Amino acid sequence: MDTNLPVTSQPRVVIVGCGFGGLRLAQQLRHDPVQVVVIDRNNYHNFQPLLYQVATGALEADSIAYPIRKIFAGQKNFFFRMADVSRVDTTANTVHTNIGDIRYDYLVLATGSLTNFFGIESIERNGMQIKSIPNALNLRSFIFQNLEKALLTEDPAARQALLNIVVVGGGPTGVEISGSLAEMRRSVLPKDYPELDFQHMQITIVEAGAELLGPMSPQSQREAYEYLKELGVHILLNTSIKRFEDCKAYYSDTEFIPTENLIWAAGVNGAAVPGIPENVVARNKRINVNRWNQVEGFTNVFAIGDVANMVTEDMPKGLPMLAPVAMQQADHLADNFRRLAKGQTPVDFKYNNKGVMAIVARNKAVVDLPKGHFSGFLGWLTWLFVHLMTLVGFRNKVVAFIDWAFSYLTADKALRLIIRPFNRRDMKDDKGKRPAEQQNATPQYNAPPPAIQTPQA
Ligand SMILES: Cc1cc2nc3c(=O)[nH]c(=O)nc-3n(C[C@H](O)[C@H](O)[C@H](O)COP(=O)(O)OP(=O)(O)OC[C@H]3O[C@@H](n4cnc5c(N)ncnc54)[C@H](O)[C@@H]3O)c2cc1C
Repeated sequence: MDTNLPVTSQPRVVIVGCGFGGLRLAQQLRHDPVQVVVIDRNNYHNFQPLLYQVATGALEADSIAYPIRKIFAGQKNFFFRMADVSRVDTTANTVHTNIGDIRYDYLVLATGSLTNFFGIESIERNGMQIKSIPNALNLRSFIFQNLEKALLTEDPAARQALLNIVVVGGGPTGVEISGSLAEMRRSVLPKDYPELDFQHMQITIVEAGAELLGPMSPQSQREAYEYLKELGVHILLNTSIKRFEDCKAYYSDTEFIPTENLIWAAGVNGAAVPGIPENVVARNKRINVNRWNQVEGFTNVFAIGDVANMVTEDMPKGLPMLAPVAMQQADHLADNFRRLAKGQTPVDFKYNNKGVMAIVARNKAVVDLPKGHFSGFLGWLTWLFVHLMTLVGFRNKVVAFIDWAFSYLTADKALRLIIRPFNRRDMKDDKGKRPAEQQNATPQYNAPPPAIQTPQA
């Protein structure tokens, strides 16, 4: 029991997840008379907003991750266990993990979200997601592996499918990755692969709704649309991908886009942990919390960030799944813990929306502030500055800045190595498990390279 954690007289706050919310909460509690135990399945904090830059070769994976133990070096009340939490037992105040059980006095679930494939099994099996660093590295390898295969393929249809990329989901992630791929097609790939004709490479973004960047202002939606058009991205609105089989992304029963590369950026669900009663888990797998982030029906169990479903008058569908929400809830919960310790009533959480932004390409970004909008070069600079400042770790900030400056000056992206070739049979989901159907499956939809021809004398 307790995975060798010291037993003290201080109450133990167990935080599951060291993403934006969990990390911030553990930092906020550094001077409080509590034992802080953070559990995460990874030993690093992952800066998800920049995952697409890793996938498209703009940043190294190491620049967007930071070792958790290093972040907390010197914090005396902090303990970390790298473990996967499989279940919460709210009666015994215990979490079950793959390294043993851990008891808590207060539990904070900060487990974030998981990719939502909306039950489309063929997409889950054959598509690429972008939710973790391994996902992003797989995607980078996969795209370049397919370009290498395209060079060897004599069948024009198979070559077209290897070159084409379909991005599903017109939210910020879909827009950002489409723009970045289109820039790569324009300025990087023709130099690396002079034997391939990139005019034939189609990058298509498919969005089920009527506009891109659904939650942003109409101005941002319009500008992002124009930016992507300028970059030559095909935009399909009011369209859904229904299945993805045999290198075909079907948008109706019979119509499809031929592609090997389908990137799924169409939605996420909360990563609710088993053991939390089903009646407090919403349909999108977020856990219902009150305005103190307390899980409904419990006094010592809390949820913050993406996994927390906090409904407010102006946001009846729950607060958005954004990093600032997670961080603000962490700050607020730390304050409320102090109030509870003093016997005071906790204070209600109020989200302070400081704005949202999305980058499309070099010099092209859109920024919505609570009272205003701007875009273009200024938007792009703002996006870079905000993301640089929020990256964890001085080294990461410096390396990211150098990589971005290099890309800007040379219109190049240096990181297109296939260091760890992607094999679909090795693919794991966000929880580190392989989807059941895939475990013994062989990839069937890659056109085999032609047999090597011996030159005739
Ligand atoms: C590609 C992408 C781009 C994004 N872009 C933006 C953006 O531009 N701006 C913005 O504000 N937001 C953006 N977001 C959303 C933002 O990243 C999330 O809102 C934020 O990460 C939520 O923080 P969190 O602490 O709730 O969860 P997360 O940061 O997701 O952290 C959850 C942590 O919990 C751990 N964990 C989960 N389950 C378990 C378990 N059972 N056992 C052990 N550990 C577990 C995970 O390993 C992870 O470290 C983006 C997200 C993605 C995927």
